[in-house]
Amino acid sequence: QFPFGRRLPCDIYWHGVSFHDNDIFSGQVNKFPGMTEMVRKITLSRAVRTMQDLFPLEYNFYPRSWILPEEFPLFVDEVRMMKDSDPAWKPTFIVKPDGGCQGDGIYLIKDPSDIRLTGSIQSRPAVVQEYICKPLLVDKLKFDIRLYVLLKSLEPLEIYIAKDGLSRFCTEPYQEPTLKNLHQVFMHLTNYSLNIHSGNFIHSDNVNTGSKRTFSSILCRLSSRGADVKKLWSDIISLVIKTIIALTPELKVYYQSDIPAGKPGPTCFQILGFDILLMKNLKPMLLEVNANPSMRIEHEQELSPGVFENVPSPVDEEVKVAVIRDTLRLVDPQKKKRKDVHNCIMFHRDSLLRAVSAFCIMWGMKDKQHKHHSLKLSLKLKFYLKLGSCQTLEEASEAKEEAREAGAGDGGERGGSRSPEAALPSLCLKQVFPKYARQFSYLRLVDRVAALFIRFLGVKGTTKLGPTGFRTFIRNCKLSNSNFSMASVDILYIDITRRWNSMGIDHKESGMCLQAFVEAFFCLAQKKYKSLPLHEQVASLIDFCEYHLAALDEKRLVCGRG
Ligand code: ADP
Repeated sequence: QFPFGRRLPCDIYWHGVSFHDNDIFSGQVNKFPGMTEMVRKITLSRAVRTMQDLFPLEYNFYPRSWILPEEFPLFVDEVRMMKDSDPAWKPTFIVKPDGGCQGDGIYLIKDPSDIRLTGSIQSRPAVVQEYICKPLLVDKLKFDIRLYVLLKSLEPLEIYIAKDGLSRFCTEPYQEPTLKNLHQVFMHLTNYSLNIHSGNFIHSDNVNTGSKRTFSSILCRLSSRGADVKKLWSDIISLVIKTIIALTPELKVYYQSDIPAGKPGPTCFQILGFDILLMKNLKPMLLEVNANPSMRIEHEQELSPGVFENVPSPVDEEVKVAVIRDTLRLVDPQKKKRKDVHNCIMFHRDSLLRAVSAFCIMWGMKDKQHKHHSLKLSLKLKFYLKLGSCQTLEEASEAKEEAREAGAGDGGERGGSRSPEAALPSLCLKQVFPKYARQFSYLRLVDRVAALFIRFLGVKGTTKLGPTGFRTFIRNCKLSNSNFSMASVDILYIDITRRWNSMGIDHKESGMCLQAFVEAFFCLAQKKYKSLPLHEQVASLIDFCEYHLAALDEKRLVCGRG
């Protein structure tokens, strides 16, 4: 541990809170810049809302939410309208302070007028959300799921999901919310930090019982009741991928600001905690994303009144140790080095194989013999190539180790040696992206809008677009015409930027933030392609802009050459 930083560079930095815990210039760090900000309740709700505007059906896994204080009038109006159109609708809402955690400050209400507006709401912004009244119950108790997700890389996008997670149980039998039980947190909130204080909390050594269990034990029970567990997993995977797709545009803006492209810098990965609630019909709903999920594998036990001791928690251990172990295996810098060497050797091996093939054909060898000889020769070449390029004994012995794994080099041809990885249990983290990329790529529209935004940011290190950058964007993409003058462009910029900046999100920099740019972009798309649905309007405008920018780049290239 280096609380005051460290002079010698590391392969992997494990930060406790955020990317900025220490200044680092190389290696890999376990946090992305901007992630903590992105998963705050308000920012997450905004990012998901943008996607809901574009793809309402695909993003119906997040409860309808309003941001307080600015959307309070909208909240009141929309609830009134919904009640008018369906008098049988008796909703409950949950109010969650922004930036809160562990159930802190959360309360349930039946009517918008019950919001505690007195003073605190102004000083503490919040999200108010439709409360899911019919959750799936196990043993008559409400529970939620904590799933661990590894975001291994942002560009290209790589996502892994842990095969097992935790189920955290309430400690009072669930009843649908009524005015009488609204305040009973042990019935409605599944937070471990709250329920641990209930007299009913059960610490269990068994992963199948108690107030904290493995998710796999719940799946087993559901499966024995005849539930379609495969479908449930596939819905959960799609919820995770879609949520990350909603977060990536802004994360990329933060990333280029802290780690400008083309300059040496660290790369990032991050373990995220997804909190998911299952509805009675088994539909998974996203509650929130945690940038710093607890990795504790022990809990406090009161030995005698006031005397506490940390004791191991088998359920936490079973799930969390595998997540950390597999994360380290996936980001292993030695593995990356081996892969680079392997790619280089494969190039030489291919040339050799071609030569051996020609040689064998010349001498009329039988196919089987030919294959055997060419393989043996290529493995030997791989071994000698690596050995020849080694600077130190350590590298040489590593090369021998590799050759042995591949079945070449000293005694390698005898076979039978196992890679060090083979001794470890199989990976609990399963890749879901790019594995399922094809099914989801059509959703990545805002990512492309963010790429345009980043191009026009100009000065590296900023996250906001100035008026000149916005004008250049309009001009280069040929968006201004007789119906849309440059004066109207300036008005659009000022109107939208002022409104977003008045919401008090980030006063450190002046200018247009990504969300404001996205709003302006949607406005332009609606203007230009009136009759289409929103996502098609936006896709058409992106194509239009990308086309003009590609033409411009080509022109500049030709001029440059000239
Ligand atoms: P925190 O970060 O404070 O834990 P959460 O958003 O996770 O805030 O909410 C706390 C708990 O409240 C959740 O674990 C869940 O049990 C319950 N909860 C949150 N949102 C909803 C909702 N929309 N419907 C039903 N229960 C909810």
